[in-house]
Parts: sequence; structure tokens; C-alpha cells
Amino acid sequence: MEVLRFQVVGEAFKKKPLEVKAPSERPAIYFGKKVFNREKMYKYLPKKVYEKMIDVMDNGAQLDRNVADAVADGMKQWAFENGVTHYTHWFQPLTEGTAEKHDSFIEHDGKGGMMEEFSGKLLVQQEPDASSFPSGGIRSTFEARGYSAWDPTSPVFIIDDTLCIPTVFISYSGEALDYKTPLLRALHAVNVAATDVCHYFDPSVKKVTSNLGWEQEYFLVDEGLYAARPDLLLTGRTLMGHDSAKNQQMDDHYFGSIPERVAAFMRELEIEALELGISCKTRHNEVAPNQFELAPIFEETNLAVDHNMLIMSIMKRVARKHGFRVLLHEKPFAGINGSGKHNNWSLSTDNGVLLHAPGKTPEQNLRFATFIVETLMGVYHHNGLLKASIMSATNAHRLGANEAPPAIISSFLGKQVSELLDHIEKADRDDILSMDGKQGMKMDIPEIPEILIDNTDRNRTSPFAFTGNRFEFRAVGSEANCASAMIALNAAVAEALINFKQRVDARIAETAETFEGSGHNATYHAIIDVLREDIKTCKPIRFDGNGYSDEWVEEATKRGLDVEKSCPIIFERYLDRSSIQMFESLGVMTKKELEARNEVKWETYTKKIQIEARVLGDLSMNHIIPVATNYQSALLKNVTDMASVFPADKAKQLSARNLKLIEEIAERTSTIETLVEDLVNARKQANKIANEHKKAIAYHDVVEPKLDLIRYQIDKLELIVDDSLWPLPKYRELLFIR
Ligand code: ADP
Ligand code: MG
Repeated sequence: MEVLRFQVVGEAFKKKPLEVKAPSERPAIYFGKKVFNREKMYKYLPKKVYEKMIDVMDNGAQLDRNVADAVADGMKQWAFENGVTHYTHWFQPLTEGTAEKHDSFIEHDGKGGMMEEFSGKLLVQQEPDASSFPSGGIRSTFEARGYSAWDPTSPVFIIDDTLCIPTVFISYSGEALDYKTPLLRALHAVNVAATDVCHYFDPSVKKVTSNLGWEQEYFLVDEGLYAARPDLLLTGRTLMGHDSAKNQQMDDHYFGSIPERVAAFMRELEIEALELGISCKTRHNEVAPNQFELAPIFEETNLAVDHNMLIMSIMKRVARKHGFRVLLHEKPFAGINGSGKHNNWSLSTDNGVLLHAPGKTPEQNLRFATFIVETLMGVYHHNGLLKASIMSATNAHRLGANEAPPAIISSFLGKQVSELLDHIEKADRDDILSMDGKQGMKMDIPEIPEILIDNTDRNRTSPFAFTGNRFEFRAVGSEANCASAMIALNAAVAEALINFKQRVDARIAETAETFEGSGHNATYHAIIDVLREDIKTCKPIRFDGNGYSDEWVEEATKRGLDVEKSCPIIFERYLDRSSIQMFESLGVMTKKELEARNEVKWETYTKKIQIEARVLGDLSMNHIIPVATNYQSALLKNVTDMASVFPADKAKQLSARNLKLIEEIAERTSTIETLVEDLVNARKQANKIANEHKKAIAYHDVVEPKLDLIRYQIDKLELIVDDSLWPLPKYRELLFIR
């Protein structure tokens, strides 16, 4: 029988009736309650101002000061009616999570009194104390100030008594200090590029939107147990812990019912999310025990990113109300599935066409093939960069480390789409597009049956899989800001589409005479020709096999894909000539911004490993070794006691096991001591390196491997030391909510 040696805080929560709104209330009634959305704008803004705001939001029109003042007025009124007393610019610095600076609405009225003030100026721009946010040297070289500026495409919302205004965060000289700025630029780039390509098929398209539907995985642990694990508390993951005799091998959690306490937490979380306009739709258990997933309906990428940032912070708060802690770390427990955040991504037009979904007519399917192939071209040319965009010290535990997804970016298309591309590539061109006496042009692009594409053959090991009407970028980490992946992906696809259009246009010009009088044919011929080229070019990125196998690493190397596994080296891809060229030409980021951001990445990497090393060193020396030594003393005492009651031979025989244990403990503790000393020295050496890039590499190559060596010894001790003495909750306790 397993014994719970730690008080489970959750017990108290089980007994207390939960203050959750009655489940009979329909979700729709909560939706958007705390968001200054279009409906609220319509109600609280003068008609002209409302129309202007819609133009700003939908068409990127300039927001002038008068309009901003009028919007601020309406917002203030709505906020006051909702008991709001403060406002904050809400932004996404290059750390994890979001940042806020709260101000109250109160201002001096100039006559010795106070008044409640909120002008367009305060809405539109602020100057938060930026010195504490990482900038990779941009601020120190240029200008100390950072500015936050309103992003009117993401609506203002209320959390408790605070009006939160989504903003970008930039330096005085305009460099991005956050995720949102380059994301908005990348989304703009893909909109322009994709709209241009859409015009080959439908000249009426005005805008192409990038869509994102994320699936957030997370673990819950009991708050009481969490508090007794300094490693979880300080690093977000367990740095030690032997496998639980039972974990996920029975697969019973995945299909199991959600425990009552967890269900109550989910209900409350969903209501809060709905109120903030986040349309939570699915919730279920994940593969590992205590692992869950939450997924809203997809939406415009910038908004979806904001919503994901928001949900991660709400989750933490709601979980505590229910006696849980949320673990967003990609790998909180060794030997058990980690957490990711699938990014379902697609493009769609303002007239409702999903560009990554197969159509009904040959023309529609040619357009579909175009967007599939050019997406693959972007992913192929920038596969190393895409990997860098999802890489972090924490996500490195998932990637390539014997778990989904592998550290090589490739794309799974499934049988139908592969066949479609093969057909376009290999069929005789004149068979694909022929002149048919009566009907005019005839195009042979086969239709893809909807039923077949839906779910039938999925490849779970593919990091970038086509799933029917979208691509699913599965390598994104659970803790990450999706913006990082979305910046790289949208930019890469924008670049591919621009390049595609240039070549198609050139070919149309070349062959115009041949097709005199039938411009359409010239266009389709050119598209098919360029697609045939591209299908061949991007073939190395297509892989339908097992992404975890060793053969794939070998094969991918041959294909020229990026197979690097070291996190600090993978970050170098941001500074490849092809990456800089792409980001600069699209106006997404300058070389200077990219360099600065890489400094931040390397520094963050180092800090994470540094903290883990310190925590593990401390725990080894003041938790594990003393406890193991105590137990060893008890064993020793038993051995001497035996010798005092039994004859020498008999005593020796009876103490054989204890003597072995005493020896093993002595050996393991002394190995740990030596390793911790090594670890400290390795850290000291690495800390002397001034260059952040080289320092991160030293931390990766020299410091980090020692963590596993120490852990191995500790986990062995955990198996032999008296359970009642062991100072930390074990996996079997952490992993099962009761
Ligand atoms: P899975 O089978 O991968 O668990 P889910 O249904 O849980 O899929 O989640 C899929 C996510 O993908 C949801 O957020 C959903 O809204 C989103 N999604 C569906 N279609 C698209 C699309 N065309 N573009 C972007 N996201 C999409
Ligand atoms: Mg998925």
C-alpha cells in the first residue's frame, strides 16, 4: 500500500462546496462579458467613432488623436460601470508571460482636488519603466526608454478591477522589445503576399488572415505537494524523482473521466476564459497522469496569441483557488509525456475561403495546392529557423529527447495530398491543363474527398502535419509564447508566396504571346509550371514515416535538413544570412533586432540551467545527503546491535543486506558530493565567459549533462532510503490527484 506522507491540501477543497456558477447556465451568456468588443464599442462610442474604430481594426487605418480620445471616453464609461479603478498597458516582453504597469484613473484636477481621468493619450501610449525587461542591449546602446503603444486590433479587457490594454513594447528608436511587434509585422507581410497570390484565382479578395488555434497542455499538482518540492517551485520541473511504479503505461488517464476537483477547476477556468472572449471548446485528459488539455476555437493569430498568454495567467490563478498548481513546463516529470502546445495554423480570405482547405472545382484545388506547396517551401527553406523559433531550455527536454516531436522539422501531408502533389508534379502538363473545344479550358486537378482527409491517417510523430484544412505545428512548447513560432512561420510563408508570385508573373510575361486572347490560361499554365518546380524543390521537407526513428536522423541529414540538437546552437539560425534577409526584406525584424533578441535567448538559456544547477546542488547537499546519511546511521546501529545479541557469524549473516545498503549509500553519497563539486566548478568556469553565446554553449555542453548524473544517483537513493525519511514528495504522490 502506498502511504501518503504529505498533507494533501486538496482534501480540504474536496469538502468545501465550490463557489462555481451553476453548470446549468449556458456558456454563451458569459462570452465576452469583460471585453470591450465590437458590441460594446457600438454601445459606448458615438457612431462616427465606432465606424472609424472598425476601419482601424479591419483595415489598419490610422488612429488619430480625436478618435482615440473619444474611444478612451467610451471605454472609461464601460470600465466604471464594471467597477474598474485602474488601467494598465498589457504587453509581452521577451521573458515568459506578460507584463503590466497599473495606474489608477485618478489625476490632480489642478484645483487641489482629484478627478478621474483617462484620455486618448493614456490609452494610446505609455512609458513603463522598461529597465527591468530584457532587451539584449538595445536599450543600453540606444535609449533607455521603452514605450508601450496600444494595439487596437486586440480588444481591451477587464481583469478584476483593472482595465487591460494590449500593447506593443518598443524602444525609443522603434526597435521591438516584445513579441507582439514583430508578430504584427509578420502578419501584415503574409496578408499582403497571400492576397496578391489569391488574385490569380479571385481578384475580389481584399485581405488574407492568418488563423491560429492552439491546444494548451498542462499538468496539475496538488498545492501542498508542490510546496514541498523546491525544484518544482524554483525551476518548474522535478530535478529528481524515481519513476512511479504506475504512471502512464495503462493509458487509463487519457480516456478516463476527469476527477471531480479538476472538473471544478476547469469549469471555473472556462467561465473566466469565456468572459474574456476566449472560446474554450474542448477539454480532456492527456496521456500522462494529471495532464490535461484546453483548446479554444481558432481565431486571428494576433488575438489567439493574446488569448493564449491570458489563459496561461488565468490558469495559474484559478488553479490556486482549487488547491492546485499549474505546471506549464514542457517536461515537469522525467519518463512521462511532456506538454506541448500544438499550433493549428491556416490562412483564410475576407470572403470566407480557407486557403489550406481542399475545394470542389479544379481551380479551387489548384489554389489549395498552391498554398500547400508554398507553405512547404517556406517551411523547407527555413526549417532550421522554425526549429529555433520553438526552442528553449525547457522545450529542449521534449525535442529529440526520445519524445514527440523530433528535433527535425518535417511535414506530413497524408496520402491524398501527397497524391495530389505527385499528380501535379508528374502528369504531363498538357494533360493537366488542356483546351477542350466547347468548354474552353479543362483542368485535371483531382478533388480530395472530405471524408478521407478527415482524421484517417494522422502521423503523430510529425512536427508540422497537415490535418485536413490546416497545418498543425506541434513542436511549440507548452510554456512558450506562440508568437515566436507564428512570427517565423508567417514570415517564411510570406517570403515563399512573394517569390512564387514573382516567378509566376515572369512566366506569364514570357509566354503571353502563346496565350494571346486567353490570359487565364497563361496564368494557370504559369502557376502549374512554377508549382511543379517547387514540388520538386521542397520534397526533402515531406516525410510520412516515423519521426522518432534513428534512420530518420540519418535520412534527414542526407536531405540537408537541420538536425542540430543543441539549444544554444539552434538559436544561431536566427542570424543565418537567409533568416536576416527574409526578416529584413519583409520588414519584420532588422539584423540589429535579431542580434539583440538572440542575446536575450542565450542569456535566458544560461540562467535557466544555472538556476537548475544551483537548486540541484542545494537539494543534494542539504536534503538528500543528510537524509541518506541518517538512514545509513540507523542501519549501522542495527548492525552493531545485531552483533551485540547474536554470535558473530550469525550477526554477519543477518546484517548482510544492511551492510550492502550501508556501502551503497556511502558510495552514492560520495559520488553525489564529487559531482556537485564538479557542477559548481563547471558553473564557475562558464560564468567567466563574457560572451552570452559562448556562455550558453558552455552551460549546455558542460554544466547541463552533470544534472542528469546527479539525478541518477539521487533516484537510486530514493529507492533504498526509508520512505518515511525521504524529504520530498515522490512521483507516485505528485502524479495522482485524489
Ligand atoms: P486535435 O485532434 O489535434 O486534438 P482539436 O480539435 O483538439 O484537435 O483542436 C484543434 C484546434 O485546431 C482547435 O483550436 C481548432 O479550432 C483549430 N482549428 C480547426 N480548424 C482550423 C483551421 N482551419 N485553422 C486553424 N485552426 C484550426
Ligand atoms: Mg492537435
